[in-house]
Parts: sequence; C-alpha cells; structure tokens
Amino acid sequence: MATALFDTPALIDGFGRRIDYVRLSVTDRCDLRCVYCMPERMRFLPRADLLSIDELAELGGILIGSGVRRIRLTGGEPLVRPGVLDLVGRLGAWLGRGLDELTLTTNGTRLAGAAEALADAGVQRINVSLDSRDPERFRAITRGGDLARVLDGIDAAVAAGLRVKINMVALKGLNEDEIADMLVWCGARGFDLSLIETMPLGLVEEDRTDRYLPLPEVRAALEKRFTLTPSAHRTGGPSRYFDVAETGGRIGFITPLTRNFCATCNRVRVTATGTLYPCLGHARKVELRDPLRAGDQAAVQTALDQALAAKPQAHDFDIARPSPAVARHMSVTGG
Ligand code: SAM
Ligand code: SF4
Repeated sequence: MATALFDTPALIDGFGRRIDYVRLSVTDRCDLRCVYCMPERMRFLPRADLLSIDELAELGGILIGSGVRRIRLTGGEPLVRPGVLDLVGRLGAWLGRGLDELTLTTNGTRLAGAAEALADAGVQRINVSLDSRDPERFRAITRGGDLARVLDGIDAAVAAGLRVKINMVALKGLNEDEIADMLVWCGARGFDLSLIETMPLGLVEEDRTDRYLPLPEVRAALEKRFTLTPSAHRTGGPSRYFDVAETGGRIGFITPLTRNFCATCNRVRVTATGTLYPCLGHARKVELRDPLRAGDQAAVQTALDQALAAKPQAHDFDIARPSPAVARHMSVTGG
C-alpha cells in the first residue's frame, strides 16, 4: 500500500487514485421495488450471510483506521435493517477522530422515525430518492410506495436539521416531464437535485433501453427554461453541479453512460455480506467477512490492499448490450 504521499494512512489504488470513501450497504432488502432497480420478486441474500451490526461497526472502524474519511450507509433500504440506528451511533462516534463525514441514502419511507437519531449521531446531510411527486406515478415506479410517507420523512429530516439532496433517476416516458417541476420544488425547499442515468445493473422485468434518458438531452431541455452555470460545488461524488439562477439552487448530473467519471473515482463499495467491490460496474470482488469473523484484522487489511490493486480503471457500462453489464443489482452492491 502506498502511504508515502500522505501523513495519514491512505488507500491508493493501482491508478494512483486515493480511495477515502466507502459506501457500506447494511442490507440488500427493501420495502419498495423500483422498476429500474429490482424485479418484483427479488431474491434476497440469506440472512445468515449478513454481517451483524457489531461486525458492521467493527468493519467501519477498520476502514477508518485504513484511511477512509467518509462513509455512506446504503442498501437496499438502510432504514429497514434492524439495529441500523445503533450502527449509525457507533460509526458517528468516529466523527472528528478519523471520519470526516457519515451520510445515508434512503428511499425516505422510514425517515420520519429516524431523522432525529441520525442528526443526533452527527449525520449532517442525507440523500433521499424521489423519482416522482405524483402519488400515482410514485406508486407505479416504486411498485406500491406511499409518496406521503416519503414527504413526511423529508419534512422530519428538515426539522431535525439535516441537509437533504434529492436523487431522481431520469426515466424516459415515466418521469421526464416532471424534471423541471422537481427542480423548482427542490429550489423552493433548499434541496440540491441530482439526476441519474439508469444503469444496466442486474435483470429487471423491463428493457432498460426503453427508459434510458441521456442526461445531456435533459440538460439541453432544461436550459431552455433555466440558466445553468457550472458550479464550483463538489461533494466528492460523481455529480457535476450547476447553479440554477431562477431557483437559487443547484442541479447535479450523474452520467455514468454519457460521460464517464471514473478518472476521479474515490470510492469502493461493501455489501451487507462483507463483499468489497472495488467498482460498481465490474464483477471483481474481495471477501472481508471471513477474516472479519475470525478477528484477523491483518487479513482484513490484506484483503483491502488486494481490492485496491484490483480496482479497474473504469466501468464498461453499455445500455445497448442485451444483458446487463453486471449481473448484481444496485441494491446488492449498495447504491
Ligand atoms: N433504497 C435507497 C434509495 O433508493 O435511496 C438506497 C439504495 S438505492 C440502490 C440508491 C440509489 O440508486 C437510488 O437513488 C436509486 O434510485 C438508484 N438506483 C437503483 N438502481 C439503479 C439503476 N439501475 N440505475 C441507476 N440508479 C439506480
Ligand atoms: Fe429499494 Fe432504493 Fe432499489 Fe428503490 S432504488 S427498490 S428504494 S433499493
């Protein structure tokens, strides 16, 4: 592992990228079934294979000790995992002691009951996925979701002092006509909005090509109505931000298909079963669970080093390929 360039421990991959951000999935289960994410009858990982809350907390500590500065909890839906708020509290205890930021991506259905505990643990900002603000459409995209609960969750997050960013997957023929309204709503509420291109991860019932909406097209359409100026704002993520003069807010574009951002990739992902994927768009993986369960921290560190050495230079997503680029769903790897 190369550490010479930095005072603190650092994870550096084979292409010289500093990896200081981990997306840690706490479950692959979810209370929604978004049509682009997973099939209606999704097969979930066996419960016995999941890392316990204690193991997840321990792994977090090891990762922070190795140079990870930011952790985002995700899933599946992280807030359906029993004990997740205990985990948030335990990871939050590292803030200011090696960990710079603890965040969460959620569908919002259980946010109302969790927002205060998140804020108390030191979480300052969260991402909430919201693909439509029309109740019927939301129900259709999520296969049964209740929009009112998500909006209550967002209100609770704001009341608890959390900064909210809205994630919206841009879907041709499903929500493309709502993007401008979403931008105005987000601006009025002080939320950034990130649009995401649908990625070919795991089989779903529909052909994702039919729903794929290239974001450069969306941006061009928005620019007829809004003044978008490239923003200096950075979150360390793949979103490219623009200030929106008319709303006073910001819009981000996450473009894995139309504009590859792998050169600045700073992250790896760990599944709820302790499998580390160095890249969202590749099958390569390293197992952390066995060394973790054996209490062998040195072996966990060796596995981490192997994972970094194996991190590919770039994903190779191609929406037009008949089978998905990667067989596992986003909900398994941790979105
Ligand atoms: N359940 C939580 C949620 O929906 O926010 C967290 C996990 S979810 C997998 C994380 C993000 O991935 C969500 O914003 C979701 O819309 C997005 N997502 C899921 N499948 C995707 C796909 N195939 N392509 C692009 N984005 C996807
Ligand atoms: Fe669940 Fe999130 Fe996937 Fe929707 S995108 S099915 S909320 S994991």
